[in-house]
Amino acid sequence: MELEEAIENMKSKGIKRVFVQLPEGLKTKSLEIVNLLERNGIEPVISLETTYGACDLRDEEALRLKCDAILHIGHNEFGFEWLKSKIPVFYVEWLSDKTGKEGMKKIEEALKDFEKIGIVYSIQYKKAFENVVDFLKSKKKKVFFGGTGQIIGCNFSNALSVEKDVETFLVVSSGKFHAIGLALKANKPVFVFDVEANEVYRIDTSKYLKIKAWNKKIFEESKNVGLLIGWKKGQIKDFEIVKKKIESLGKKVYILAFDELRESVLEGLKLDCLVNLACSRISTDDLERYKIPIIDYLDIFS
Ligand code: SF4
Repeated sequence: MELEEAIENMKSKGIKRVFVQLPEGLKTKSLEIVNLLERNGIEPVISLETTYGACDLRDEEALRLKCDAILHIGHNEFGFEWLKSKIPVFYVEWLSDKTGKEGMKKIEEALKDFEKIGIVYSIQYKKAFENVVDFLKSKKKKVFFGGTGQIIGCNFSNALSVEKDVETFLVVSSGKFHAIGLALKANKPVFVFDVEANEVYRIDTSKYLKIKAWNKKIFEESKNVGLLIGWKKGQIKDFEIVKKKIESLGKKVYILAFDELRESVLEGLKLDCLVNLACSRISTDDLERYKIPIIDYLDIFS
């Protein structure tokens, strides 16, 4: 949904005050958004907490501030359709204008040895994704994707559902974030088309796999384990079951709850290992960030 459309919907529903959540990269647009909302008779409250995804739905905070609705910018519901909000939520995806057309020759060269290609995108690059699909088809490639083709950092179902049909994957995105996540789940080569940098390259997961294997070994030898629980609405998982499973391995488990994990909040904790039950990217991208080794619970129990 575009911002103007969301505002019209809010007006038609009589929304008077809205809680605005947005990712770090769109904070510079905050004042522009505030002005537009105010011109339309809606009072905005800007959340200064960074919103990393649709998992972060702050309806409790919004209600505390007497807001009638949430304006969730930079994301859509994908992967979190099951989340129930106490107030209406209006998602504005904030699509990039980049068409990706400058990268087509590079894509053709990178994928020249493959005929059947699984192609997926992160939400901002939907337009570039559509252009790449058309381009690959015009080059007589067979193109596959599940659902809309969208992926997020913790949900690759639209790629994995077509894995059996493809020889490789292409992720249309910016940076490596989404492509690394897929490469760690899929058993096929993964390329990224970084629309912002206009680069196409293959993802190498060897460094991540080595650290994960090392951290698993540390977990096996650990006596005192911290269980990381994210309390963002879409990140809450059944931690009691995981705690019991770890305890059954003869380990002492400490439940550690947080909104956003930072190095400073772990200072002073004498733990051998951390098991991550919050956002799965903490135990993917941030493996070298913390002094205590981190392992994802799925790397132990799946
Ligand atoms: S759980 Fe992590 S990867 Fe998934 S939407 Fe939330 S912040 Fe993004």
